[in-house]
Amino acid sequence: MKKGFCALSDLFDRQYTCNICGNAFVSKQVKTSALRIKLRERDFHTYYSSESPIYYGVICCPNCGYSKFEKDFKAQISGTDMGLVKQLISSNWRYQNYCDQRDTNTAIRVHLIALANYKVLKASAYTLGKLYLRLAWFYRELESNAEELKYLKWALEAFVQGYETEKRDENDEKELEIIYLLGELNRRMGNYQEAIKWFSNTVNHEFAYKNRMIKSYAKDQWTLCTEAYKIEKMKNNSQGA
Ligand SMILES: [Zn+2]
Repeated sequence: MKKGFCALSDLFDRQYTCNICGNAFVSKQVKTSALRIKLRERDFHTYYSSESPIYYGVICCPNCGYSKFEKDFKAQISGTDMGLVKQLISSNWRYQNYCDQRDTNTAIRVHLIALANYKVLKASAYTLGKLYLRLAWFYRELESNAEELKYLKWALEAFVQGYETEKRDENDEKELEIIYLLGELNRRMGNYQEAIKWFSNTVNHEFAYKNRMIKSYAKDQWTLCTEAYKIEKMKNNSQGA
């Protein structure tokens, strides 16, 4: 499903000030009232018939290259981190403007710039996973299967690392989403047994009752996976015979 430019009237200007260089600039965002969902996929990717707000999730200062998810972009930054961005990002940056309407390709470029920023700042595995997953979605929209799979694999590795090593809040309901996502990403990569393990963990999780949507997604995808696994086994057996 390819996607080009949508209506400019779906967008509005939002004001930002860069915490690295002090530059004040405006960058486009999607009006909430303009959002029209076409299709929601089971790894949380959403196709829009309006402008996609996912394309605009990252803000990039055209002046210095500082680039992060909007919430992080607006947050205060320590002196040490500021030094790292100046030294490793801004010193290599030539003026580039990602503040206007974006398509899939510009969304990819600006997310790669954010990835470079987050790597320099040694961001959490979850944050890197979130970026990899979005990049996988963008390549899916472009029907670039090899690139999509590459980023899905990196997203999966980052989320597993995050799940195993990063402490989350005890009551964090997001944990359920992460466990489910580990199942779905494994399924998409054809790791059916591993996927089934994570879907089972989701359905049996102590907070599963709090998020019915995720629980029902996990059940559906578990069934899909079991069927795919059976077919794969049958194919392997017939090839071996
Ligand atoms: Zn800046």
